[in-house]
Amino acid sequence: MKARIPAQNPRANLKDYAAETAAFSWTDAAGAFTWSETGRINIAHEAVDRWVEDPETADRTALVFEKASLVDSFSFRQLKQESSRWAHLMRNQGLEAADRLFVFLPPSPEIYIALLACARMGAISSPLYSTFNYGELEVRLRDGRPKAVLTSPDLIERLPAEAMTGVEMVFLTRGPAPGLFDRELIVKDLLPGIETEFPTQWVDQDTPLYLLFTSGSTGPPKGVIHCHRDMVGHLLTARFVLDLNPGDVLWTDCDAAWVTGTVYGAFAPWLRGVTSVVQGSPFSASNWYRTIERHGVTVCYTTPAHVKELAEAGDDLPGRYDMACLRHLATVGESLGPDMFYWCKRALKRVPHETWWMTETGMICLANFPALDTKPGSMGRPVPGVEAAILDENGEVQPILTMGELALKTGWPAMMAGIWQDDDRYQYYFRVPGWFLSGDMAVRDEEGYFFHMGRNDDLIKVGQQMIGPYEVEHVLCRHPAVAEAAVISKTMPTNEVRIKGFVTLLMGQTASARLAQEIKEFVRANLSPDIPLAEVTFLDVLPRTKSGKLLRRVLRARELGLPVGDPLNMRD
Ligand code: ATP
Ligand code: MG
Repeated sequence: MKARIPAQNPRANLKDYAAETAAFSWTDAAGAFTWSETGRINIAHEAVDRWVEDPETADRTALVFEKASLVDSFSFRQLKQESSRWAHLMRNQGLEAADRLFVFLPPSPEIYIALLACARMGAISSPLYSTFNYGELEVRLRDGRPKAVLTSPDLIERLPAEAMTGVEMVFLTRGPAPGLFDRELIVKDLLPGIETEFPTQWVDQDTPLYLLFTSGSTGPPKGVIHCHRDMVGHLLTARFVLDLNPGDVLWTDCDAAWVTGTVYGAFAPWLRGVTSVVQGSPFSASNWYRTIERHGVTVCYTTPAHVKELAEAGDDLPGRYDMACLRHLATVGESLGPDMFYWCKRALKRVPHETWWMTETGMICLANFPALDTKPGSMGRPVPGVEAAILDENGEVQPILTMGELALKTGWPAMMAGIWQDDDRYQYYFRVPGWFLSGDMAVRDEEGYFFHMGRNDDLIKVGQQMIGPYEVEHVLCRHPAVAEAAVISKTMPTNEVRIKGFVTLLMGQTASARLAQEIKEFVRANLSPDIPLAEVTFLDVLPRTKSGKLLRRVLRARELGLPVGDPLNMRD
C-alpha cells in the first residue's frame, strides 16, 4: 500500500516511532501522575486540581462552552470549585461512592461539571444523548439502574416513569420542577452557600469512573465500564496522538454521550492542562469553520461524518475563515476513506490524521501521527504501548496483507473493566487468550499501517472472495451523481450472494432506472466484473447512529423484512 503523505510536523511530540515503541513501558507512563509519588489516585485531581495547586496554571482556561454564539468559560480553578460544590450537593442528597448518575442534558457545561463531581466522590457518571427518546432511555435506565438522574425541566418529561423505579432523586440544573417524580431537586437553588472545597475521595486504580453505552451500530448498545486508571492512556494519547501541549486549544466536536466526547472532550485535554472547546449548537459547516476561528482552535478531533458534511457544503467556504491557528486535524468513528482524506488536504489545507478505537478500548489505539508519514485510507499504527495484530478465526496471527479480525494484546490501561450486567458479553471479547477481539476486520501492510475493511458482520463473501463494503462504497461515491453510499450483501433463496448498494444523490440529480443501471456499470468498470453490484436503491438519507456512523445492519434488516433491532439509536 504505497500512497503516503510526508509528515506534517516533524517537531510533534512523537518523533521516533520505532524508538518510542521499543522503549515504552506503561509503568513509566504512569510516572507523569502525582499518584505515582503520593499513592493517592483520583482522575479529578490529576485533570483539574493539580493545575490549581500551581499559581501559573490555576487560572488557565479549561473549558470554553459556546452555544448560539454565547460563550461560557471556566478556568481550572473554577472547574475545581464548581465540581466540588456539586459533589457536596449530590452527596448531601444521598449519592455515594459507586452509585451511578445518569446525565441527560443537552450539551452544556453542567455535563462536564457533573462528570468531575462524580469522579471526585468516587461515583460513576453516565452521559446520555439529549436526543434520546423514551424507548432509548428506557433500555439504558433498565440496564444501568442509576441512583440519580441529572436533567433539565425541558427534558424531564421524556424520562420513562416505568424504568425510573430505582431512581431515588432527579437533579434538575434549574427550575421549575414539574413534580413528575418524588424527589426533584433544583441544583441551581441548592448550590448557594455550599463550600468550594471537597475532600477528594481517593480511589483504587480499578474504581469505576464512567459507564457508557456503545453506539449501537451492530446491535443493542452495550454498557461499557471504565475506571480511573484509564487516565494513563488518556494522557499518553493526548500527548502522542492529538499532539497536545500546554497552550493548545482542543476542539473535539462530538457529544459527551459518545466516548470520544467524554474522553477527548474532557479528561484527556485536562490531564494535559489544555483548553477544551465544546460547541453546543448543532453541526453546520459554516459554524464549524467559525468555531475554529473564533476560539483559536489548534487541534481538532472530528469525524468522517462531519468531514463529509463540510465537503458537501463546498470548497469555497473554508477560505472565508481564518483557520491559520489549526495545526492538527484528526478523525475517528468510521473509515475516512481516500476521497475525504484528499478533500481535507485540498480544501482545508490540512492532512487529516485518522485514528481508530472503540468505547471498549477507552483510548485511541491506532493512529496516524503528525511527525510521521500518513497513508490515505489507513487507520495508522498502534500507539506506543499497544500491540495490534490481525487474527484468523482460530486466533492465529496472520501475515501482512491478509484480512482478519483486528485484535489488541490485553494490558493497556484504558481497556474496559466490564460490560455492565453482562459478563458473558465481556468474556466474549477475550475468547482468544491474551487478546481483545475488536469485531472489526482489517489488514496490515508491510510497514505496520492498518486498514479497516469493515465490521465482521458487514463483510461480503462472493464465491471464495471476502470483500469489505468500503471497497464498493468508495467506487460508488466516485460516480458523479452519488453523494453517499452503503453496501450490503443479500443471500438469495438460491443461496447466491448478491451485493446491493444504497445511494443518496447529489443535489440536482434525479433517481431513475437508467441511472441505477449506469451506476452498476460504473462499479463493474471501476472495481471488478467479478464483484457485480446486483441492485441499486436510491434513498433520501442513509441510516446513521447519533455519532454519525453508517448503520448497515438497519439496511440489512429492512432488506430481509426483519425488525431493525434497536432502531432507536438512529439519528433523528
Ligand atoms: P456497537 O458496538 O454498539 O455496535 P460501535 O461499535 O459503533 O457500536 P463505538 O464504540 O462508538 O460503537 O465505535 C467503535 C467502532 O467504530 C469500531 O469498532 C469501528 O468499527 C469503528 N471505527 C472507529 N474508528 C474507525 C476508523 N478509523 N475506521 C473505521 N472504523 C472505525
Ligand atoms: Mg462496537
